[in-house]
Amino acid sequence: MTKMIVLKGIPASEGVAVSQVFKYFSKGSIEVPKECKATDKELEKLDSSLERYRKYLSELLNIVEESERDLIQAYIMIAETLVNEAKEAVVSGGVCGELALKQVLDKYLALMDQSGSELFALRKSDLIDIALALTELMHSERISSDVAEARGKIVVSEELTPTTFFRLQRVGVKGLVTLKGGITSHVAILARTYGIPYVIVPNLDPGVVVDNAIVVVDGFEGRVIINPSNETLKYYEEKERLIAELMATVKRYAYEKTKTLDGYEVEVLCNVGNVEEARVASAQGCEGIGLFRVEYLFMASKPPSEETLMNAFAKAASFFEGKPVVIRAPDLGADKPPPFITIKEDNPLLGLRGIRFLLEYREEVLKPFLRGFLKAYAQHKNLKLMIPMVIKPSEVIEFIEIMHGVAQEIGVNNLESLELGIMIETPSAAILIDKFTKIPQLKFVSFGTNDLTQYVLAVDRTNPRLAKLYNELEPSVLRIMAKSIEEALKHGLKVEICGEMASKPIAIPILLALGLRTLSVNPRYVGLIKYIINNIKIQDVTLLKDAVLNADNSDEVKKAILNYIHTSEIIRSHSNVIQILTTMS
Ligand code: PEP
Ligand code: MG
Repeated sequence: MTKMIVLKGIPASEGVAVSQVFKYFSKGSIEVPKECKATDKELEKLDSSLERYRKYLSELLNIVEESERDLIQAYIMIAETLVNEAKEAVVSGGVCGELALKQVLDKYLALMDQSGSELFALRKSDLIDIALALTELMHSERISSDVAEARGKIVVSEELTPTTFFRLQRVGVKGLVTLKGGITSHVAILARTYGIPYVIVPNLDPGVVVDNAIVVVDGFEGRVIINPSNETLKYYEEKERLIAELMATVKRYAYEKTKTLDGYEVEVLCNVGNVEEARVASAQGCEGIGLFRVEYLFMASKPPSEETLMNAFAKAASFFEGKPVVIRAPDLGADKPPPFITIKEDNPLLGLRGIRFLLEYREEVLKPFLRGFLKAYAQHKNLKLMIPMVIKPSEVIEFIEIMHGVAQEIGVNNLESLELGIMIETPSAAILIDKFTKIPQLKFVSFGTNDLTQYVLAVDRTNPRLAKLYNELEPSVLRIMAKSIEEALKHGLKVEICGEMASKPIAIPILLALGLRTLSVNPRYVGLIKYIINNIKIQDVTLLKDAVLNADNSDEVKKAILNYIHTSEIIRSHSNVIQILTTMS
């Protein structure tokens, strides 16, 4: 009997999968001769490899969801840039096409290395993926790496790129395990969108995994179990079956009104990262957008034009006529550095990001953004504006002054009705909430628990070695939220949450107990979250508040919730809710 190996990793996409291993390790680097002379065929070879790569990606365009097409288009654009620059290098340097391509790739990789950011680190792998494919296509008709055998299996790989992901998803892969990657990587986001369990295990030794071995991927706990014992296997197969059944059951709740059993209405909005996602969300039961992350629009060599911004916001607003669409001012810096400005800092997470960045680069970024937003707002009054990473009221006041200046300049009047909000994602903003309520234009606050948790606990949310310490259910995080929510409500502010915490079933009873009535969630979980809320009594969960705020740590908080739901009469009569909360916690 082979030995069972349990590995702890980072949960990147929820769900449980049990199947055989398919090891997928690509060459990862481009082998070309150090020296080679150009022949008269080099330009032709480069052009034809680009042509074939375009054809290959166009085929992908036909199979991916509309929301992913931008990404494929971006791959095509990058391939064109690489090939065009390689052709110039062939002409000016007299080297062969493969070497020219490698030189261009190395130039871009070095540029990205200098930035040292997670986002660029991920883009590096995209770039290598594209260059590898182009080089391969200079010699053969097809891209070799065959994924057909991954059907129904769990892929174990060093790292995955979006194109490989799409091919794997198409053949019906069941789960993913990689050594490299981040939970905010394209592949992690795609895995969550497509519901494929995914765990990142940085210390995985590929040698211990053999093709076709049985493996369990637990995307809730971030656990990978190789050669599970019969007992473990049975447990996970049952969990996998249960989750599939529950997700199917809750699907229809996505389109129902959300109301607790004792009659409290709850608004369930969604988080999106681009216009296509907003379109999809509008058909998935989302009652509006609680967070539109605009940063992807800024991930280019220059900031987007006012017109691009205006069109994006207007389009998103048009999918949700009469419902709120909250646009977040760009939260650039830290883990989302803009490629067009170089920021060198020792502590980027405590550095020039969010509102600080916007005030510093007001001419280059903030004012053009506001012009785009306000022009869209003039046409779509359901748009709202939210400011990230605030620590004190003076930042908001300065932001508002700039906004009024811009509005006057472009002739947009009647800003009184524009609802402005701030994200509560720093302890400072949470503690000073009463001070913020004195700003008349401020109508709502939204808890960004992803950052709030990292700043309350002093745990970098992107550091895999600290993943065990990062937990929104720590009583310190809950206490600061409880106090802040109470103050905000007392002063008549609308209170929302848009951090990932709102998409976690186990957190829902607490969020309701703390007084939250507007949650902005991952669109995939709309049905699930609505279903849980529809089976809860506010009166009951309020009794939980004291226990969780007085717990010693997140394990105790979790225990208190589970304990409570097992004894609650109301929830007990809805056995599915118990199953969801216990299975998905
Ligand atoms: C948050 O911090 O909770 C949040 C929603 O913002 P982001 O994850 O984009 O930093
Ligand atoms: Mg944040």
